[in-house]
Amino acid sequence: MSKAPITPHLLVADPSGDIYDHPDLLMLCRRGNQWGVPRPDELIPLPPESELFLLPKRRPCGLNPETGEIEIVEDSLAVAAFLAPAHTISAHPAYMQEDDAPLLPLFAYGAVGFANEMFYVCAQLVDHDQRQRFRQISREKIAKKARQLQKNYPKNRLVAHILNNCVARYDCPAARNFALGRFEAPLPTSQACNAHCLGCISLQEKDSPIKTTPQCRISFTPTAAEICEVMTIHAGRETKQPIFSFGQGCEGDPLMNADLLASAIEQYRQQGGHGTINCNTNASKPNAIPKLAKAGLSSMRVSMNSAQEKLYTRYYRCQSYAFHDVRESIRLARSENIFVSINLLFFPGLTDTEEELEALANLVGKNGVSMIQWRNLNVDPVWYYHIMTDLSLDEHQTNFSKYNDSMKLSDSIVSTSGMGLSTFMQRLKKLCPWLIYGYFNPYLGDHPKLTAPKVDTWSMPDWNKILTDDIK
Ligand code: SF4
Repeated sequence: MSKAPITPHLLVADPSGDIYDHPDLLMLCRRGNQWGVPRPDELIPLPPESELFLLPKRRPCGLNPETGEIEIVEDSLAVAAFLAPAHTISAHPAYMQEDDAPLLPLFAYGAVGFANEMFYVCAQLVDHDQRQRFRQISREKIAKKARQLQKNYPKNRLVAHILNNCVARYDCPAARNFALGRFEAPLPTSQACNAHCLGCISLQEKDSPIKTTPQCRISFTPTAAEICEVMTIHAGRETKQPIFSFGQGCEGDPLMNADLLASAIEQYRQQGGHGTINCNTNASKPNAIPKLAKAGLSSMRVSMNSAQEKLYTRYYRCQSYAFHDVRESIRLARSENIFVSINLLFFPGLTDTEEELEALANLVGKNGVSMIQWRNLNVDPVWYYHIMTDLSLDEHQTNFSKYNDSMKLSDSIVSTSGMGLSTFMQRLKKLCPWLIYGYFNPYLGDHPKLTAPKVDTWSMPDWNKILTDDIK
């Protein structure tokens, strides 16, 4: 017997902040400027360690199942879910914002509703790794371990930064893991960056509409010896599968200090240090790749909001590099046997399009990318969509009004510009079957074995042939 589909009701908050499910209206969600009810395959119960946010000056919108029309709930606030790590959202909440609505801070805002006594979100679990689950670990335990580490290494400024800023102020999961001596240790090093990302979480320009960032840039440059000591400390505690990652939320881009990184990696490897040494980066400096490979780098994770140059450039606002440098860095890394992941900053309705699928498959296939990490783009969804598409905010509202006036459930709800996260993931895998999917940097030993095609040995498969083979 097939299960009845889940039909969540709209979640709203009253002016005092109490959240309740609307008795009549159904949950709606947004992918770009397309609104609809959630797809049956994208609803999951709200994962543990997630949070609910109230969205100021944004009125929730739901679907009246009797009339098939969208209704705005006046005198209420829209509600969104910020999901626990390892989950990727597939839709944003549907709301109308007032003219003076403040820009939302840099988080990802997932669509959330209520059914069968549970919260449901539009999202997918993309990694089963437990490294950022802390439910069973008390804050006191983490603080105690941090105090002990600082006592043991009082002169290392990087240890102090990770514990005093990243653990104590930013609550960074990677830093907490360093304090606990498990999984992946962070190695922030860089005060500078050659991009001005719209959603940079460590630094915004003076005239940016984003007034606060969740973290601050590291205010000093550690020495190679300090970095190497952090790696050695971590490897001495996480003895099975140590991972070390340059490129953290509290810094600029690590490739700005490529010589420093190479020297720290070299020191660590020369003293017999094992583990996966990874660099999270914008990959803007191809010249840095061969020396990092020679020093002993194992993997590189390249962040991007889009594989389409136009959308990439609009978000990254590159200062001294261009999209072709990113591509060249990936090619060089693959040629040097470095495992390359794309840190794909997924945005429902913009990332899951036909155009993006083609651009991403080409980037991945031709240049030897091994993995996609499906991350959420932390940004105000309406603001970002407006910048990426040249639509004014007024046009968004107009689109909605037209939609509201003229469209009914039967003829409107399925029409979206995005194909949906799960379809996008499935289709990309058909085109690039070697791809590994996940959310975190994997442990790969010191030197990974690569199955991604070598540079320029792949060509785009014929969709018709894929479909025919599937039917056979
Ligand atoms: S590449 Fe990273 S550090 Fe540089 S501006 Fe973008 S988010 Fe910030």
